[in-house]
Amino acid sequence: MMDADHCIFCRIAAGSVPSRRVFETPHAVAFLDVAPLADGHTLLIPKRHYVTIDDMTTEHFGEVLHDLPRLAMAILRTTGAEGYNLLQNNGRVAGQVVEHVHFHIIPRFANDGLGYRWNAKSYAEGRADDLQKRIESALAIG
Ligand SMILES: [Zn+2]
Repeated sequence: MMDADHCIFCRIAAGSVPSRRVFETPHAVAFLDVAPLADGHTLLIPKRHYVTIDDMTTEHFGEVLHDLPRLAMAILRTTGAEGYNLLQNNGRVAGQVVEHVHFHIIPRFANDGLGYRWNAKSYAEGRADDLQKRIESALAIG
């Protein structure tokens, strides 16, 4: 895990590393991804260093995402995209490369060639019931 001094996104948030910033609030910064999947591909990040969203408080999570609808609308209007994906990876196994929470806003166009391998599965008998109960219990513990 990187500390804030060595984290590229902390340095971008602080302004010590340049970025194409499009948006800033007291809690968050948004800037164009340097390696975009599409025109207007933007990253929204908390100014404070968190590795994954489960590290964040509920309050701060809300503050960081507060203006996401407005940001997404501006990106849609600017790019002419017909839709967008909001992508947020937690952990290396999930595809997270920079260990500072970030939300990708990826404009989508018809036949843009982007997509997923969405290999949907089905649950074995009883497994979904078990998971449902255990996740509910974990939430009750807090
Ligand atoms: Zn950071």
